[in-house]
Amino acid sequence: MAGILSLRHNKVVVTVVGAGFAGVEAAWALAERGVPVRLVEMRPAQTTPAHVTGHFAELVCSNSLKSLLPTSPAGQLKAEMAALGSVVLTVAAEHRVPGGEALCVDRDAFGDAITHRLRSHPLIEVLEQEFGPDDIARALNQPNGIVILATGPLTTGPISEWLARVTGRTHLYFYDAVSPTIDAASLDRSIIFAESRYGKGEGDDYLNCPFERDSYDAFVAALVSAERVPIRAFEAGGRRDDTGEVLEEMFLEKIKYFAGCTPIEAIAEKGPRSLAFGNFKPVGLTDPRTGRRPWAALQLRPENKQKTLYSLVACQNRLRFGEQKRVFRMVPGLEKAEFVRYGVIHRNTYLEAPKVLTPQLELQEIPGLFVAGQLTGVEGYVESAAMGIFVGLAVFALLHDAELPAPPRETAYGSLLSHLQDTTPREFAPMNINWGLFPEPEAVPTGAKTDRGERKEAKISGAQAGLAHWRAGITFL
Ligand SMILES: Cc1cc2nc3c(=O)[nH]c(=O)nc-3n(C[C@H](O)[C@H](O)[C@H](O)COP(=O)(O)OP(=O)(O)OC[C@H]3O[C@@H](n4cnc5c(N)ncnc54)[C@H](O)[C@@H]3O)c2cc1C
Repeated sequence: MAGILSLRHNKVVVTVVGAGFAGVEAAWALAERGVPVRLVEMRPAQTTPAHVTGHFAELVCSNSLKSLLPTSPAGQLKAEMAALGSVVLTVAAEHRVPGGEALCVDRDAFGDAITHRLRSHPLIEVLEQEFGPDDIARALNQPNGIVILATGPLTTGPISEWLARVTGRTHLYFYDAVSPTIDAASLDRSIIFAESRYGKGEGDDYLNCPFERDSYDAFVAALVSAERVPIRAFEAGGRRDDTGEVLEEMFLEKIKYFAGCTPIEAIAEKGPRSLAFGNFKPVGLTDPRTGRRPWAALQLRPENKQKTLYSLVACQNRLRFGEQKRVFRMVPGLEKAEFVRYGVIHRNTYLEAPKVLTPQLELQEIPGLFVAGQLTGVEGYVESAAMGIFVGLAVFALLHDAELPAPPRETAYGSLLSHLQDTTPREFAPMNINWGLFPEPEAVPTGAKTDRGERKEAKISGAQAGLAHWRAGITFL
């Protein structure tokens, strides 16, 4: 542990708000390097609609921290976090339960142990309180005041409203309403064609999956009968019974208001041609294989500058993940689609990072206020924890006039951060670590016929080399 300073004698105390996955990592990264931290957590006195204990880093749903395979995106991210001193991974390894190649944990033992580890650190003072905007302002106004906001996808109302105000209303989301995203290499380019409507727009930015009448009818029938994720009372805006149509109605109203969308399956239910006249209207398009307008067309929009990822335009939905794979693979050209992210519509607070955060995840408009975890626009326990470590190190560097070099683009960190900085016009949505976020290796040609295994291997070895280089450049690790 580097140069421990006592809370009383050192004026710089960093305030970390939220002891979830990101908050514990940020606090740990700082405290382990000698910076006193005040860690603010409102549970158990106040809770969120999803948490049920007073444990720090509570796993609110699955007990899996995803794959440990070193050849997988999640495995590579974990290798990078471990190299930077992750406390979540250390404690998870101590409370591992069988889960095949995934890192699964005994949730109570894990929660108990990580809470104890943080609470017993000599440089971490835990404050059990619901923080509000005034508390944040006070903490920032202290000499060298720094706040790391890590309040997560269910950030409390007063902080959410304040964040919406200070970042501009359109840059804070309350619901995550996103369409599935697909790895570009898995598209069938012999069917899918590039064309913007009426030949206008940005060249070949949009790709089109053309339906004939039969394929369209079969797709719609499968879509409306597919199994959906049940709606939770808190997502519908009330704590009313989790039953019946009232909940569905309340939910649709909420997402229309906050996310401006209706799930594609609800639109399809309105009539057999509603998608052909709406989300999938084929006007202005000509299928080069037939020389005429298709019956309907599902459009794909690039999700990043490299065009390694495409999202399915206007396909926000609440189908179960397995059902999404089955149903969307019925779309011509998507028969072998590899999904890097499934569509979801759920309650989730996050910022439009590319517009409001710096590369160090500091709010552009409020120097000293850093953001970590799912609020930044990553998704998942591990990704949120990863961003907590990053922000902890960035703040440490700032306090010590040192430099935290940017992670090389090839690393998992570089890939996630690039998602948070990519200003490509798109519907910005939280993202798990996935193959499509890693840059295409130069040595391997891209395209449908490329050996996918070879590309993946090249991505991982690029990431490993990048990590070694990055780590060597961080002087205070
Ligand atoms: C219902 C649901 C199910 C999910 N299931 C999964 C899953 O299966 N797998 C997965 O990988 N991810 C899942 N996620 C996402 C997962 O919760 C997050 O990715 C991860 O927990 C985010 O970490 P975080 O640190 O950003 O936020 P959190 O872990 O949520 O931590 C935020 C902390 O801040 C505290 N807090 C909030 N507001 C205040 C305040 N004003 N003052 C003080 N403290 C405050 C909260 O009590 C909480 O402890 C799920 C999310 C939800 C909502």
